[in-house]
Amino acid sequence: MRIAVLALQGAFIEHEQMLGRLGVETFEVRKLSDWEQPKDAIVIPGGESTTMMLLLERQGMLAPIREAIMGGMPVLGTCAGLILLDREHLGTMDMLARRNAYGRQLGSFHTTGSFCGIEGEIPMTFIRAPYIEEAGSEVKILSEVEGKIVAARQGKQLVTAFHPELDSNLSLHRYFLDSIV
Ligand code: GLN
Repeated sequence: MRIAVLALQGAFIEHEQMLGRLGVETFEVRKLSDWEQPKDAIVIPGGESTTMMLLLERQGMLAPIREAIMGGMPVLGTCAGLILLDREHLGTMDMLARRNAYGRQLGSFHTTGSFCGIEGEIPMTFIRAPYIEEAGSEVKILSEVEGKIVAARQGKQLVTAFHPELDSNLSLHRYFLDSIV
């Protein structure tokens, strides 16, 4: 298995490390020719969604990535990656993200929570995080924190508002890999 990690900006190295610990090969995508390599899935990391959109557009990768995801390419989007998949951005997932949803004071926090399909609680690190404020009927909610949707999936698209790559717990990445094969 070989996974493309969007490396325009943000916390992409941490995803590569997590996947590496699970024995999965990754490669970084910065431009169209990187993207065109064979791959089984893509990870869109946290960072700044507006910057990432701009860079995707500039590199001519917005449409090819959208088409691949629409065509069933598995994707893991974390934080800004979640925002990028919503109705107002790539529009591959039938949900609407609320950006910087926790206000200034609570912008960044750490908690643990339950996640449908993973046993026990997992660590959840939120950094100026979004949550999902509207989810269509195809969207399966996987986790809620204080009544807000913080993880969901639609087909092979998996999104989290928190950063699983910033904790040492591998279960979310393992869950993603299990959903690919
Ligand atoms: N606040 C960022 C955005 O709106 C997301 C933050 C993150 O990815 N940690 O894109």
